[in-house]
Amino acid sequence: MTSSRIIFLGPPGAGKGTQAQKLAQLLGIPHISTGEILRGVIKENTPLGKKAQGYVDRGELVPDELILDLIKERLNQGDNVKGWILDGFPRNVEQAEFLDNLLDDLQQSAGYVVNLEVPKEQLITRLLQRGRRDDTEETIRRRLEVYQEETAPVLDYYRTRNSLKSVDGNLLPEEVTNSLEKIVAL
Ligand code: AMP
Repeated sequence: MTSSRIIFLGPPGAGKGTQAQKLAQLLGIPHISTGEILRGVIKENTPLGKKAQGYVDRGELVPDELILDLIKERLNQGDNVKGWILDGFPRNVEQAEFLDNLLDDLQQSAGYVVNLEVPKEQLITRLLQRGRRDDTEETIRRRLEVYQEETAPVLDYYRTRNSLKSVDGNLLPEEVTNSLEKIVAL
């Protein structure tokens, strides 16, 4: 059986969530979004949720020690045989290194690393329209800074290791999905 293991990268507002969800559905594999998992535990007010809430509201990254166990547990679940799409992880180089080690242990590797590219002005417009709790102007500004400082280096990490594929995310959603389908050879 062929497995599709896909890592989705790109700035906040690039459409990662929408596209990852769509592609996961087409491929019949789980869509694993760390942001969604965190919003879930925050809503349920679990101990992890309580610890994570302030960071998410400020647009900061949740500390690695809160997220690494979570991703390890998730990738060890039984629904991962056919693959998965990771959306929102890794968010810094330490997380990327952790993921490499974890996949080594599981005798797996990421098949595709996709970067959704969208110009910055477009990102701000999209995020302001979305209206999520962490989509206030101040938090959006901070999330874009955090992306530049901590997440953009992850692109170089993969550029030198796997073949990083960039996709123009500034097209109609269906067109973006089409480009992604071509990459994963659906
Ligand atoms: P997202 O839904 O991917 O935009 O994530 C929303 C928020 O969740 C981010 O702004 C971070 O506060 C937090 N978050 C999501 N994924 C991670 C991660 N891999 N590491 C640290 N924080 C994360």
